[in-house]
Amino acid sequence: MNIVTEAVADIATPRSYEIRTFGCQMNVHDSERISGLLETNGYVPAGDESTPDLVVFNTCAVRENAANRLYGHLGNLKVTKDEHPGMQIAVGGCLAQKDQDTIVKRAPWVDVVFGTHNIGSLPVLLNRSRHNDEAQVELLEALETFPSTLPTKRESSYSGWVSISVGCNNTCTFCIVPSLRGKEKDRRPGDILAEVQALVDDGAVEVTLLGQNVNTYGVEFRDRQAFSKLLRATGEIDGLERVRFTSPHPASFTDDVIDAMAETPNVMPQLHMPLQSGSDSILKAMRRSYRSKRFLGILDKVRERIPHAAVTTDIIVGFPGETEADFQQTLEVVEASRFSMAYTFQYSPRAGTPAADMEDQIPKDVVQERFERLVALQDRIAAEESAKLVGTSQELLVTNDAGSRGGQTGRLTGRAPDNRLVHFSIPEGAQAPRPGDFVTVPITESHPYHLIADPTAATQYHLRPSRAGDAWDRAQADSCGTGTVAPAGGVNLGLPSLRIG
Ligand code: SF4
Repeated sequence: MNIVTEAVADIATPRSYEIRTFGCQMNVHDSERISGLLETNGYVPAGDESTPDLVVFNTCAVRENAANRLYGHLGNLKVTKDEHPGMQIAVGGCLAQKDQDTIVKRAPWVDVVFGTHNIGSLPVLLNRSRHNDEAQVELLEALETFPSTLPTKRESSYSGWVSISVGCNNTCTFCIVPSLRGKEKDRRPGDILAEVQALVDDGAVEVTLLGQNVNTYGVEFRDRQAFSKLLRATGEIDGLERVRFTSPHPASFTDDVIDAMAETPNVMPQLHMPLQSGSDSILKAMRRSYRSKRFLGILDKVRERIPHAAVTTDIIVGFPGETEADFQQTLEVVEASRFSMAYTFQYSPRAGTPAADMEDQIPKDVVQERFERLVALQDRIAAEESAKLVGTSQELLVTNDAGSRGGQTGRLTGRAPDNRLVHFSIPEGAQAPRPGDFVTVPITESHPYHLIADPTAATQYHLRPSRAGDAWDRAQADSCGTGTVAPAGGVNLGLPSLRIG
């Protein structure tokens, strides 16, 4: 009996579930797979008010205090579990892979611990745990099934993530990923493109290709240009309007990828490329095998071919041994790079990484002070770069997230081609878009990390309905009776509307 049918056979009434996700985009995507897998096995999402029959923690080992936070959450949940006989708790993700059976020793009320390589076993482990009334711990050292072959429940109808590889062959000294996710494993191009096509058939207009190190994609089947070929192949998929990817590694960034980005119209003018440090001696200590000159050289080439590309990055402040002079070099590279956004991190030691044992750990107050200087610099650059877009016209992919102030301002939210967040208003009498539709609007105001578009006349606002909007309508109709398209400021009576164009 395979694991799916074994699990289905035992579930008579639907059990409800909730997933709590910590960490990076990989984990968010893994949680979509866990949802898909659970729902294929008869579980239903728990309502906001009810206590779920199953809580899954998809954990992250990268952040400081990850373990303390997890055990804190588990401790809180024990009380709920005691009050709800039959409730189950499962812990997966990187911290599960790292701590293994320590989790059930420290929190014996946990029912299942599963690793990053065996998400597919979760339903059967839950089942066995209930049958045998004992915790099940299953952690594999290597992947048995590539995770993207598992059913996935996507969070958004217009946009999807597609894994092209998992694991990483690098050995950055601050990073726990190689020991938890293993060596790089590449999916076959045909499988990736089939998954992209399936998402598009399902209504998606945007896809993000995902890997720890996307531009070493192909290392397993010895094709050094495999990633650029993959980008070009996604350009052939009819109806796929936006392609993004994350993250490339500067050391393995080759010109054929820049050419493919520039020459494939649906690959968006955006690049997220981790810098980590602008100091060559710190990059060496981090075992990052590029130097700042190479990093800046890649940006020059990208901007030469794609002048409007927005570049984002990751930076670690206070790596062991970082001197004020090293930090100054980071500031210089940041100034020269003109990032639209930087994810900035204060270094903190992670047990199990080489950097944790290095001498010369930097005192917390020094790290904090440098961090604040870096953030101030980056905020200034982001504001200057955003301001350049005022007066331009941008086509936005409308999201279903109105932002924290959407309710007060009446604005909706979309993403520009370069992935900038734009809050826009709809002129009086114009038709409102659905999530997944496209609108073209003039940018009227800038902030460091978002833009405002307030068209003053209907002629400044152009709505382009899309298949993704239709898919959103269908999903709404399935869940509550009808789709929704309302005139701006009007009351939505839930009536289907006629769309032209
Ligand atoms: S490239 Fe370095 S930082 Fe990125 S996943 Fe691999 S080891 Fe970690």
